[in-house]
Amino acid sequence: MTPLDEARDHVFARCGRLPAMELRLEDARGLITALDVTAAEDVPPFDNTAVDGFAVQAADTARFADGACTADGLRIVGTMAAGARPDRPIAAGQAMRIMTGAPMPPGADAVVMVEDSVTTGDFVQFTRSVDAGDAVRRSGSDVRTGTLVLPSGTHLSPAHIGVLASIGRSRVSVVRRARVAVLSTGDELVRDDRALEPGEIRESNARMISGLVAQAGCDVVDLGIVRDDEDALAEVLRDAAGRFDAIVTSGGVSMGDFDVVKAVLSRIADMRWMQIAIKPAKPFAFGLLNSTPVFGLPGNPVSSLVSFELIARPALRRMMGHGPTADRLSVRGIADETFERGPDGKTHFVRARGSFGVDGRLHVRSTGGQGSHQLASSASANALVVLPDGEGFPAGSELEVILLLND
Ligand code: AMP
Ligand code: MG
Repeated sequence: MTPLDEARDHVFARCGRLPAMELRLEDARGLITALDVTAAEDVPPFDNTAVDGFAVQAADTARFADGACTADGLRIVGTMAAGARPDRPIAAGQAMRIMTGAPMPPGADAVVMVEDSVTTGDFVQFTRSVDAGDAVRRSGSDVRTGTLVLPSGTHLSPAHIGVLASIGRSRVSVVRRARVAVLSTGDELVRDDRALEPGEIRESNARMISGLVAQAGCDVVDLGIVRDDEDALAEVLRDAAGRFDAIVTSGGVSMGDFDVVKAVLSRIADMRWMQIAIKPAKPFAFGLLNSTPVFGLPGNPVSSLVSFELIARPALRRMMGHGPTADRLSVRGIADETFERGPDGKTHFVRARGSFGVDGRLHVRSTGGQGSHQLASSASANALVVLPDGEGFPAGSELEVILLLND
């Protein structure tokens, strides 16, 4: 059996990084920046008010320091909304009514919020004094021209997209999104709603894996079911290799007589077939077909899911330039039940549900039936509990938990 790390290294070493391209911001979320981004302008671009209120000379408010609001008011010389031009000055003894985001009038050095003011006709009094700079947002106080805003390799969150928009960038250079084809193999599989004939089962993996591929950040095309026919499969794979960056297949990689994926890949691709030392999901095939990675996942739905998580997903994300975010987050959790197993030379991955306890720690329980055909009991899993070879863990133990959370 191949250790999981060796299988992963073998696969990752053959999954080259995709080229960079410029995308509109609205299309770039979740991708990895391919170049440093430096600010070409200040944010905010000018000094402006952080509150609705009155722009003043702070010294003019000293007489209101007692909070009594009895001193002579300042004369209101105008009103500035956000978007007003910053060219209407005030002088000593004057105040400008001003709305959040409006530029500071020349001559003003502070803003008193409207809640601290009392207006009578053209005059305003205050219930407090302010210091120079109060409630003023300085130009460049968020981002200064020339600073490195996002280094190359940044995983673009919606907030990063907002930052890019704020500095006037409408496009960004990113590692391209992988285009991935998904297909299932098996003569027993049925995809339409008709009644099953004896021996047939419903196809589930292609649509499940397509969802996982999309959640991994790739563009996905579901090619449906291919029969257990070597020539038919070879043709579909060859065609897909020319049109996609990667192919994910399910089924046909074990020791059976009709395991066509294994047979075809050994014929037409530079292929490695592995028995990985994990449970579920022991059989796994990987090949390069005209340099396009082909991930041959096992057909048992749970095995398919787990081997996608452990090998295909991180490989696809590496192709898209991910570094630390290629893999799921792995944390320490507390077993809320016994996680039993026996020694068999494999690492077991138990589908589990984790939640934070009042102790602030992550607590995990198995989702139930762990057979590799029991997808329904795995569906609510938000974590994989890692059980190294051995006897498992009693309740209360600390163990490794892989979080199946999407970013
Ligand atoms: P295989 O890896 O092709 O030997 O398939 C292993 C098991 O998974 C068999 O019971 C198959 O019927 C089942 N299986 C294979 N592909 C799928 C699929 N796409 N959807 C649901 N079950 C499948
Ligand atoms: Mg099969």
